[in-house]
Amino acid sequence: MEYKEEDYLMLSGIQHFSFCRRQWALIHIEQQWDDNVRTVEGNLFHKKAHDGYSSEKRKDVIISRGMPVFSRSMGVSGICDIVEFHRDDKNGVSIHGREGKYLVYPVEYKKGQPKENEADILQMAAQAMCLEEMLECGIPKGYLFYGEIRRRIAVTLDEEIRRQVRDAFEEMHQYFRRRYTPKVRRTKACNACSLKNTCLPQLMKHLSAREYISGRLGEEGEQ
Ligand code: SF4
Repeated sequence: MEYKEEDYLMLSGIQHFSFCRRQWALIHIEQQWDDNVRTVEGNLFHKKAHDGYSSEKRKDVIISRGMPVFSRSMGVSGICDIVEFHRDDKNGVSIHGREGKYLVYPVEYKKGQPKENEADILQMAAQAMCLEEMLECGIPKGYLFYGEIRRRIAVTLDEEIRRQVRDAFEEMHQYFRRRYTPKVRRTKACNACSLKNTCLPQLMKHLSAREYISGRLGEEGEQ
């Protein structure tokens, strides 16, 4: 199956979805967004990693910043912080406008330190899978660069990670088609959630944010 371009979802949404399905739906379906310190700092850090598309060559490595990627089979599009092309005329693939063949590695920048959850890995794996589809190549690994430890970590992109990426996007498309926002499921993650003031996990057990807000507006209008 192939998705139409107008149905593409934001690739980066997979981090929200993996953190909390409701958070993803509030942002991507209900268009609710609150900035807390974490998201502001994270966005500034990202801005440094890619500010528009550019590329440079260092010896046998081409470094592309802010490269747009998409996948017709998963129905997503996004931007890669960094994609490195390492020259390897034996095992690599041809790149338009460049001499020789290259191995392709996405590098995703994160402000903090490595986390226990898999959100960062899934996002980078999704980028790799888009690049594979676009460039008709195989990408067995990618990298996560963490600002706090100033180091990159190599991640092997095995079949289990790829299955999780495909399943997540399929579920996101199903929710998006139905405009469905999952109900609150209060977890430890709620404390660090940038949307806790919108989601109101302690108050809203059964209502969507939209239902809650229109309920409040209705009450205020009656006064
Ligand atoms: S406050 Fe909790 S339930 Fe609500 S969106 Fe955030 S993580 Fe999800």
